[in-house]
Amino acid sequence: MTPLLEVKDLRVSYGKIEAVKGISFSIEQGEVVTLIGTNGAGKTTTLRTLSGLLRPTAGTITFDGKRIDGRPAHDIVSLGLAHSPEGRRIFARMTIEENLLLGAFLRKDAAGIQSDVQRAYDLFPILGERRKQAAGTLSGGEQQMLAMGRALMSQPKLLMLDEPSMGLSPIMMQKIMATIAELKAAGTTILLVEQNAQAALSLADQGHVMEVGRVVLSGTGQDLLVDESVRKAYLGED
Ligand code: ATP
Repeated sequence: MTPLLEVKDLRVSYGKIEAVKGISFSIEQGEVVTLIGTNGAGKTTTLRTLSGLLRPTAGTITFDGKRIDGRPAHDIVSLGLAHSPEGRRIFARMTIEENLLLGAFLRKDAAGIQSDVQRAYDLFPILGERRKQAAGTLSGGEQQMLAMGRALMSQPKLLMLDEPSMGLSPIMMQKIMATIAELKAAGTTILLVEQNAQAALSLADQGHVMEVGRVVLSGTGQDLLVDESVRKAYLGED
């Protein structure tokens, strides 16, 4: 089977600083793949490059059979790759429903859009209860739900989540992780970037450990969870 996403020898620089130094990985349809690693490893840079916000200096990105490296971000969204960014980037003064609808800005099927808004409310009931309120009144965890809901509104073939648990209470983090598991069970293909390696690897089919711009270790989520070097570096064990 051809992978849904194939990244080969990808390099990305900010001026003279090379943040991603030749990484390769692929994602099969229906898989959850996670990138873990410390701050500055290049995970966010990788996601921003996949979604067209940064241009790679070398390498190729093939998504759903098409080369997408160097294409503009709106083209990439329309091909089915959605990004829920780090820090959430919701629009605080717009209502929750307006924020969700922004995720559907390339769609024309009004009935389908309405049923997907309803699906977001089924997934995250709090969003439905507060649909007419300004999004800035939501808690951090609820804003994360909104960012995920908004990304899903483009009906993505691949959903990229950048640090969905960042800054959340343990309970809210569990809720977000449970939702990712629910999306996975429904067949959504997900690329998950997380600082919380334990939670991410527990969910993931495949994981890649990044350090200073390189993938230094790859394996199934289960293999990495029991790997001694991963346990020491990322799971807080001696
Ligand atoms: P974090 O979890 O902190 O976001 P990360 O693994 O996602 O870490 P990146 O944010 O991709 O890492 O950063 C990779 C490297 O690129 C870091 O050394 C960072 O300082 C650098 N970097 C990131 N954004 C910029 C920028 N806009 N200009 C210059 N350097 C940058």
